[in-house]
Amino acid sequence: MERAVARIDLGALRANCERLRAELGDARLCAVVKANGYGHGALDAARAAVAGGASALAVATAAEAAELAAAGAAGRADPDGAGGARPESGVDLLTLGALTEAEVDVALGADSALSVWTPGFLDLLGARARALGRRARVHVKHDSGMGRLGAFDGEAVVRLARAVAADPDLELAGVWTHFATADEPDDDEGYFFEQLARFEPVAEAVHAEHPGVTVHAANSAAVFRSARSHFDMARCGVAIYGLDPFQLDPTAHGLTPVLSLRSHVAAVKRFPAGQSVGYGRRWRAPADTWVGVVPLGYGDGVRRALTNDCDVLVAGRRYPLVGTISMDNLTVDLGPETTVEPGAEAVLIGRQGEEEIRAEELAARLDTINYEVTTAILPRVPRRTTGDA
Ligand SMILES: *Cc1c(COP(=O)(O)O)cnc(C)c1O
Repeated sequence: MERAVARIDLGALRANCERLRAELGDARLCAVVKANGYGHGALDAARAAVAGGASALAVATAAEAAELAAAGAAGRADPDGAGGARPESGVDLLTLGALTEAEVDVALGADSALSVWTPGFLDLLGARARALGRRARVHVKHDSGMGRLGAFDGEAVVRLARAVAADPDLELAGVWTHFATADEPDDDEGYFFEQLARFEPVAEAVHAEHPGVTVHAANSAAVFRSARSHFDMARCGVAIYGLDPFQLDPTAHGLTPVLSLRSHVAAVKRFPAGQSVGYGRRWRAPADTWVGVVPLGYGDGVRRALTNDCDVLVAGRRYPLVGTISMDNLTVDLGPETTVEPGAEAVLIGRQGEEEIRAEELAARLDTINYEVTTAILPRVPRRTTGDA
C-alpha cells in the first residue's frame, strides 16, 4: 500500500492515440506531452503515444524537449552535436513556445524543431544554428486569431517561410496556427471557422512554394470538430490522456481516462453529533457518524477549493468529502454505520467498482477545465504505470 499514487494506464493512452489516428485518416498525430504530460509523466506518455501511432511529439519549453531527447523518446540525445551516444529516435520533436536565446541552444541540442514568427528571431536562430553546426528545423506560426504567439499577417508568414527556405542553416519544416475556440462549438459564433478560413490561404501559399512542409492547426477539440482542420498533422494533448476536450464525456468520443488518483483511509473515527473536523471547523457532524481520514491534500495537488464540495470513492461507493482540505489530509463522512476499516482504498479521480469520478466532474466543481485538474497533481504523488505502452 502506498500513501497516494497517480496510476497511469499506458494501454489506455496508447488506445486513445489509436482512436485519434483513426479519426485523422492520412494526417499524422503529434502527441503533446508538455507540462509533464498534463501531469501524467512526460516520458511514459511519450512512449505510449508513439506505440499508439504518434509520429511526432510536442512540448512547450526547451527543457521539456531536452528531457525527451535525453531519454531517447524523440529528437536526438546529442547535446554537443558530436555524434551522440544514442541514435536518432525517428520521432519528430517540436517545441511550440517562445524561447529565450539560451533556450534556443537547448532546443537545438535536443534536435527539436522550433516555432518562428518574426524576422528577428529567425536571424537569431540562423546565427545559433551556424554557431552550433546544426541545421534548425523551423515551423512558421500564423496567428489566425488566437491573439498570442504568431504573426497576424499572412503575407508576413509567407515571406518568413521563404526566408527560412533560402537559408542553408535552416530547414522549413512546417506552417501552423492554433485555435481559440475549437472546444466551444456552441458559443464561438463561428470563430473557429473564421480562423480556419484565415489560415487556409496562408497554408496553401506556403505549401505551393514549398510542397514538403507539414501544415498543422488542430488541437484535440478541432480533430473532432471538423476534418477540414486536420491538414497534414494534428497536435493532440488532452484527448490522448482520455480527457474530453469538450469537458463532458470522453467515452462519447471513444476515449478512455488514463489517470486515477488513489490513496487510502488511514484512520476511521467515531464522531459524536456536533464534533467539527479540520481547520476552521468548516463541517460539524449533524448526527453521530464515522469519519475517515485520507492522507492526501493540497500538498499533493488536491485543490483546497474542493473543501466540502466533492466525493471520494471508498469500498465502491461515493462518500462526501467533509471539512477543509489540508496540505496533507482530507476527511470523508462514512455515515452513521460503516464497515470501512483503515487501509481501505480511497479514490479521488478514477474508477472503483461500479462508481467513477472523472477529472471533468472535479473541473466543473472548481469552475476550471480537466486539463488543470491532472496538471495540478504535484510531484509528491508518485506516478505508477500500468498496462502495456
Ligand atoms: C497545448 C497545445 C496543444 C494541445 O492542445 P489540446 O487541447 O490539449 O489537444 C496544441 N497546440 C498548441 C500550440 C498547444 O499549446
